[in-house]
Amino acid sequence: MESTLLLVHTEADGALAKPALEALTSALALGGELTVGLVGGAVEAAARIAAAAGALRILAVSGDEFTQPRYATDAAAAEAIARAAGAAIVLAPATARWSRALPGAAYRLGGRIDTHATGLAVRDGAPAVTRWFYRQRMEAVLTRTARPWFVLLDVGCVTPWEGAPAASAQLETIAVAAPESRTTVTGVQAPKADEQTIRPDAKLLFVAGAGWTKKQPDGAVHIEEAQQLILGALRGAQASLGGSKSLVDSTGEGEAVLPFMTHLNQVGQTGSTPRHQKGLSTCCHGEEPHVVGWRFVTERRAVNLDANCGWARGKADVVYVADAFAVVRELNRLLA
Ligand SMILES: Cc1cc2nc3c(=O)[nH]c(=O)nc-3n(C[C@H](O)[C@H](O)[C@H](O)COP(=O)(O)OP(=O)(O)OC[C@H]3O[C@@H](n4cnc5c(N)ncnc54)[C@H](O)[C@@H]3O)c2cc1C
Repeated sequence: MESTLLLVHTEADGALAKPALEALTSALALGGELTVGLVGGAVEAAARIAAAAGALRILAVSGDEFTQPRYATDAAAAEAIARAAGAAIVLAPATARWSRALPGAAYRLGGRIDTHATGLAVRDGAPAVTRWFYRQRMEAVLTRTARPWFVLLDVGCVTPWEGAPAASAQLETIAVAAPESRTTVTGVQAPKADEQTIRPDAKLLFVAGAGWTKKQPDGAVHIEEAQQLILGALRGAQASLGGSKSLVDSTGEGEAVLPFMTHLNQVGQTGSTPRHQKGLSTCCHGEEPHVVGWRFVTERRAVNLDANCGWARGKADVVYVADAFAVVRELNRLLA
């Protein structure tokens, strides 16, 4: 197997996040000589993890300038580490930070980059990269002869590396003068944790469809109750919230809406393809452009008033032909 460089960035507290530990698992599975490259404000704790995992060399670009995600500094750090490592294969987790900076670094090194890799295997001493195309409808296995070959690994495909950090690590620090930048990070604005409805690490994906905002059998719309029920289920099950296109579009049009539902929640052909193990669809018809986004959700249940909905046509394991208001009300009672 060719030599591999794993590029990871540390978090604000110096730790390695789950995507980095997953990428470490993938890098180790390739079996080549492994160099780990670290970028961040503090890198010592991460270096001890790399040492425990068996990295042959640990290279680092660290310091205040490299704490914040910023294209100019991240690309410069990645470029310097990749040059120093001289590895043929450069792996990195597909975090927002690396997805932005590494294509530029690959270009500077005269290499190539592939994104959204979901699997790696060794074929004739080189990696064979699995990725999906055409909105997750076709799976392909790619190899390349160009080097260095950068590969961004999608999150959630392998088990994160686990182990106790080594007592110490031999760190090779690379001095990189931070490039001039017009970007100054003055602070972070983030929603409160319990306002965050997209939770990639949740076990359950709770999908709400347009039915929640439609007239119900009593002839009236029950938006307030729909909100309470959906938020209650999310809170009780610590689930992630997905939406159908019809529902998120109506939110954008200012109709009777669920205020916490945005286009970021949309699952499907023109939305996202989440990787939760379980999915529960409520008030959603289960049309193909929506269900194609469920490709990686292996255990599926749906609640729909319509026994002929799309879910009932082989797209879900269990379909409850029932009123989702009643089902989720009872579900929340049990969760409480
Ligand atoms: C090119 C293209 C791309 C698309 N991409 C996407 C995509 O990425 N994602 C996506 O979602 N869609 C996508 N669509 C749209 C998709 O085809 C559907 O129109 C959409 O998914 C329908 O949303 P829905 O099921 O929430 O709404 P509806 O079709 O309005 O279904 C509402 C459902 O709620 C049920 N219901 C109502 N009240 C209750 C109740 N009390 N209890 C239980 N069930 C109830 C009804 O029986 C009905 O089945 C795309 C379409 C096209 C043409």
